[in-house]
Amino acid sequence: MRVVLLGPPGSGKGTHGKRLCESLGVPLIATGDILRQAIADGTALGKSAQEHVKSGRLVPDETVLGLVETRLRLTDAQRGFILDGFPRTVAQAEGLKSLLGEVRMDRVVNLVVPTEVVVARLKDRWLCGSCGAIYNMSTAPPKVAGVCDRCGGGLKQRSDDEPETVRKRLEVYARETAPLVAYYEREGLLRNVDGSGRASDVYAAIERAIGKAA
Ligand code: ADP
Ligand code: ZN
Repeated sequence: MRVVLLGPPGSGKGTHGKRLCESLGVPLIATGDILRQAIADGTALGKSAQEHVKSGRLVPDETVLGLVETRLRLTDAQRGFILDGFPRTVAQAEGLKSLLGEVRMDRVVNLVVPTEVVVARLKDRWLCGSCGAIYNMSTAPPKVAGVCDRCGGGLKQRSDDEPETVRKRLEVYARETAPLVAYYEREGLLRNVDGSGRASDVYAAIERAIGKAA
């Protein structure tokens, strides 16, 4: 199964993507995670991406396409994959299409969430530094403040979740990424899913959208 998760920052792509890939047995390929890891490791990719990510702007298409191409060649991606945060521009979508060649995407799921809701979610979002689990201090807090329920790791906030940068990311989303909704609609791949409800309801709707019974 080859699925793209589309939607603004904070729409739940990471949360639902993690669950979906476990259930489908395919890797979750999240370009934002790969870039943050590269930045933390201080690699050449990380150095070139750093300023873009920090300011909430997009990393250049060629850079992202290169890293996705490399990732898709690994054996675990041959049976399928979930893409989270990629493609983010029409040029990236075209690049993905040519990378895949004969192979077609099965579905593009667009998580629809109002701007006020994503802004509120990102403000209170905390992540586990060890396992990547996502918490929300107002709606889904950990049992012990600052500690991951799953692995005991320490929780931290993403530096680009600060309000000024969130505004920038939403602006970039509206301008660069939102056109992909019409793009994938034309390709006949798009399914809109209301991403604003309870996580379990949203997840069930995503399963229906990709044609996998819960
Ligand atoms: P979110 O979807 O919550 O904004 P991501 O983790 O997907 O967060 O992305 C974080 C940042 O990484 C983006 O703001 C951007 O700078 C960079 N990034 C991630 N994916 C891409 C991509 N496909 N193209 C360009 N930049 C990207
Ligand atoms: Zn954890």
